[in-house]
Amino acid sequence: MNADWTYNDEDDTFGPDDDASFSEGPRALRDSDDPNAQWVKNFASVFLQEMLRHEGRGGHAKFSVCRRCCSAIPEYRCRDCLGGGELLCRGCLVTAHRQLFFHRVERWTGNHFDKVKLKDLGVRIQLGHWDDVDGRCAHPLRAPGDDFVIIDVSGVHEVGVDFCGCGGGGHHCVQLLRASAT
Ligand SMILES: [Zn+2]
Ligand SMILES: [Zn+2]
Ligand SMILES: [Zn+2]
Repeated sequence: MNADWTYNDEDDTFGPDDDASFSEGPRALRDSDDPNAQWVKNFASVFLQEMLRHEGRGGHAKFSVCRRCCSAIPEYRCRDCLGGGELLCRGCLVTAHRQLFFHRVERWTGNHFDKVKLKDLGVRIQLGHWDDVDGRCAHPLRAPGDDFVIIDVSGVHEVGVDFCGCGGGGHHCVQLLRASAT
């Protein structure tokens, strides 16, 4: 049994509207009663196609040279940069990630993408010189073992870390503490 409910000023309550017409039996089904079915019917195939598209190079396959430098082979992409899977050459990808140390990068092998560490492409975190214009140290010191690992919301990252060795950055602990803004 369905009825319209209204607010009653006199006793400050909600209740069935005395004047509302009542109807017997279940109401007709609406699309909104089963949103999952509506999604499957209208969008599932589109979502699946778009997800599969990310497994390959998509529309970027037609570019034989990097669109940023117009010279080198575009074979790297970043899963965290909002670039629609744009493929870049190694040099342009490294330049774009000088401060994006925890982005997840992949390289096109010819028929699939492989994970690549930014560290292996030459990206390194220079500690102790955050307030310098170029952020580099004249005497960088590699972290012991060069096996620094940082756990971020996007995953576990093996990163290249260089401490400041010129004396301006202070104690190594201080250099690490100052790397964070929080
Ligand atoms: Zn390039
Ligand atoms: Zn990125
Ligand atoms: Zn230094």
